[in-house]
Order: sequence, then C-alpha cells, then structure tokens
Amino acid sequence: MNNTIPKYDVLIVGGGVVGTALLYTLSKYTDIKNIGLIEKYSDFGLVNSASYNNSQTLHFGDIETNYSFEKAKCVKQMADMVMKYLESEKHSDIEQKIFSKYSKMVLAVGKKQVEDLGNRFTIFSSLFPNLRLIKRDEIGKIEPRVVEGRDPDQEIIALVTEDGYTVDFKRLCHSFVDNAIKANLDVDIHLDTKLLRIDKNTDHYSVITNKGEFHTNVVVVAAGGHSLMIAKSLGYGKNLSILSMAGSFYTAPKVLNGKVYTIQVAKLPFAAVHGDPEVHNENVTRFGPTAKPIFQLERHNRSTFREYWKTFGIGMKPIISLLNIILDKVLFNYIILNVLYDLPVIGKRLFIKQIRMIVPSLKLKELKFAKGIGGTRPQIVNNTTRKLEMGEAKLSGDKIIFNITPSPGASTCLGNAYSDTQQLIGFLDNRYMFYKEEFEKDLM
Ligand SMILES: Cc1cc2nc3c(=O)[nH]c(=O)nc-3n(C[C@H](O)[C@H](O)[C@H](O)COP(=O)(O)OP(=O)(O)OC[C@H]3O[C@@H](n4cnc5c(N)ncnc54)[C@H](O)[C@@H]3O)c2cc1C
Repeated sequence: MNNTIPKYDVLIVGGGVVGTALLYTLSKYTDIKNIGLIEKYSDFGLVNSASYNNSQTLHFGDIETNYSFEKAKCVKQMADMVMKYLESEKHSDIEQKIFSKYSKMVLAVGKKQVEDLGNRFTIFSSLFPNLRLIKRDEIGKIEPRVVEGRDPDQEIIALVTEDGYTVDFKRLCHSFVDNAIKANLDVDIHLDTKLLRIDKNTDHYSVITNKGEFHTNVVVVAAGGHSLMIAKSLGYGKNLSILSMAGSFYTAPKVLNGKVYTIQVAKLPFAAVHGDPEVHNENVTRFGPTAKPIFQLERHNRSTFREYWKTFGIGMKPIISLLNIILDKVLFNYIILNVLYDLPVIGKRLFIKQIRMIVPSLKLKELKFAKGIGGTRPQIVNNTTRKLEMGEAKLSGDKIIFNITPSPGASTCLGNAYSDTQQLIGFLDNRYMFYKEEFEKDLM
C-alpha cells in the first residue's frame, strides 16, 4: 500500500451537525486516535444544519403533537444530551452565542383541539414535569398577540414551558469541532473535500475524493440525503427512495415572545406550522416551515437534481410508492397548498390564514416571504411497504454506517453519535475503549 495515503480507523463523511457530533464524541469519549472527517464545502454546517435552513428548535416532544409518547420519550432523551452540552458550553469563552432560550407553547384552538390537548397533557405531564396547562388569561400575559383580536367565544388552551431552546446548529457544529480538536490534537479535518466514491477492499475502505484518496477501517456517512445515494452505490438500501420535502418560511416583526406551535393535523406526517423568534434576533418572528416536494437533494444546489434521481432509483417500484403516498387525499391537498405557499402574491395570502391561527390580528403587510431560507428534509420512502418512514434512518453494513437525517435530526445528533460510537467500537474488534460512563455522566 502507498505510504503517503492517509489511513484512519474512522473516517466521517459530512460536516453537518450529525457528523461533527460524532467527531466530538469519538475524540472526547474514546481512545481512537486516527479519526478523519471530510466535508465538501469550505465550512461546517452549510447545508441543513445552517441556521437559515431549519427551524432552529431543540425538539423534546413536549409541544410537538405529531410525536407519540414513545417517540417523545426517545427524542427527549437525545435532546437532553444537546441541552446539557449547550448549558455546559454557555460559560466557556466562545465568542458567538450558540443558543437562546425562550418560552414555548402549543396552542389548541376550538372545542375538539382543547379536549385533545387536555387529554395529551394528562399523559405527557409525567414525561415533562415542567409543562403547564394554561388558559386564555395566562396565554395573553405570555403572548399578547395570540389573544389580541381573537373571537372571545373561541375556546383556547395551551401547554407551556420555559425550556424553549432555539439553537444555531451551524455554530453547534463549530463548537463540536473545536472541542474535538481540544480533546484529540490528531483529528484530521479536510474541508472542500468531496467524496466521489467508496471502494471496499478486503481489510479497509478506499475513499476517493476530489482531493485524493484516503484509507480507513470504518466509514460513517453523515451526508444527509446523499447518505442514501452513497449507500446504494455500495449495494445497501436498495429498497429505499427519498422524498425531498423542502420547507420555506415567512417572517414578521416581533409578534411573539417565544415559540408557539399549533396542533398537528391528524394523518399529516410533517410538523404543523409554528412561530419562533430568530435565534440571534428576537425582533424577528419566523413562521413555517411549509412542506413541498422538490427533485433535489439540497435545496439551494441545482446540481443535486441528478443526484436526487440517482438516489430515488430507476424502475416502477419507487414511482408506485411515491404515487401511493402522495395520492392520499389529505396529503395531496396539503402538498398542493404548500406548493402554492411559495408563490409570489398568492402564497402570502394563503399562508396568512395558517398564521392567523396563532396571531389572529397579523396584517398582510407585516408578513414577508423569507427568500433563500429553508432546507429540505430527506424523508425515507420504503418501496417494500410503499410507505413514508418518518424520522431518521440508519443503515448499517460491513464496518460502515449511513445516517439519513430529516427532522429532528439536529436535536438527536448526540444520541445518534452515542449509538454510532458503540457500533463502531465493535467494528474495530473492541480494540478501543468507549468511555461510556463519562459520556453518560456529562450528557445524560
Ligand atoms: C425546513 C427544515 C426545518 C428543520 N427544523 C429542525 C428543527 O427545528 N430541529 C431539528 O432538530 N431539526 C430540524 N430539521 C432537520 C435538521 O436540520 C437536520 O436533521 C440536520 O441538520 C441534519 O444534519 P446532518 O449533519 O445529517 O445533515 P447536513 O447538515 O445537511 O450535513 C450533511 C453534510 O454532508 C456534506 N456532504 C454531502 N455530500 C458530501 C460528499 N459527497 N462529500 C463530502 N461531504 C458531503 C454536506 O456538504 C453537508 O455539510 C429541519 C430541517 C428542515 C429542512
């Protein structure tokens, strides 16, 4: 073997929040020394982890009514890790703030929603002891514009908590990388380095990039929707496709003091619209995200059109699955409406109806389409069941892991790193230690 080719124990592909959380975990909580990371852009967190591309929310499952109790329990455990990390970093000498804390609530409007949310509270309060059920008067004190202009006969209640973390996940990537380098000076980072191909050899992988070749014992691919494309090139995930659901946002001046979520419409797989203060500017309220399908793996990169179809797969199976999913009446109407939300003039007039469920007195002139804002969620389509699979997907192969991470992938990044680390220590024949107790003491 050529000696000039760098050789790693673990090579991570992708410098978003998932890849950098793993880099941090491996550097700080294992004794693996030879770790590399490659990222195709010139900085970390420029795709879905960029603050302008996602909702900036640390999701716990307390105000997300699209989560079942079991899902909320699991997401909470992982979001708690990020929360503990953020709190521990608060006092370090970082120049730029990674997160802001606001109140957050989920609002029920009308008799049926009020009844359902009341029932949800009875079940979920055991998991979220800080969650309180509040009525119109208190809602008005915390969020005056939620009550202002609302029909006094309209029933409303909310579940509220003070633990609303709004996170700049790109800055979180930087923090993970900085702390990874502090823990392990030998960590090797290659920016502007695009993975072109992975070749499997008998005792290692050859990772071919635009900057040359790397050898590694283990590969972890954390490249968002591209992870599935790379997996397929090695024969994994052949029965899966991707529905790329772009999310757009509208902004208004400060009309909310904290996060306000609406109740999930049953049957819709995507989060209901919410209003959130911008992470670094509380004077701007962001509403969204919308959800419309696009044929790109990255929202703002047209060159990923071809890669999308490569990932989607050729043949009738993925097309039948897609039709089966989107021709469902509820989803179809929802998608059409969401496509219209992105259009000039008409989009704003339609979307304001959604937002007025939160802020009834919002004026059309207060609302602005946030141009160039919003990424795309790589939702997995299972061509065997012909169904959409919600949440993250992980494919494991021979000494290789692929992470595909739609929402709430940023909230679960450290939980994901924890499970990847356990798995890849096994891949390395337990020659290295995972200091699990330390990880758990610090972050669990
Ligand atoms: C509209 C919207 C709202 C969302 N809101 C939230 C939220 O509020 N809370 C939450 O937790 N999650 C949210 N999410 C999801 C969250 O943004 C993602 O789950 C998370 O950012 C995924 O991180 P990642 O590192 O897997 O992907 P990314 O951040 O996309 O990083 C993948 C990296 O891989 C690199 N890469 C790709 N191909 C290659 C290659 N060939 N070679 C080298 N590098 C490569 C990319 O350049 C990129 O840097 C939202 C997503 C969207 C779209």
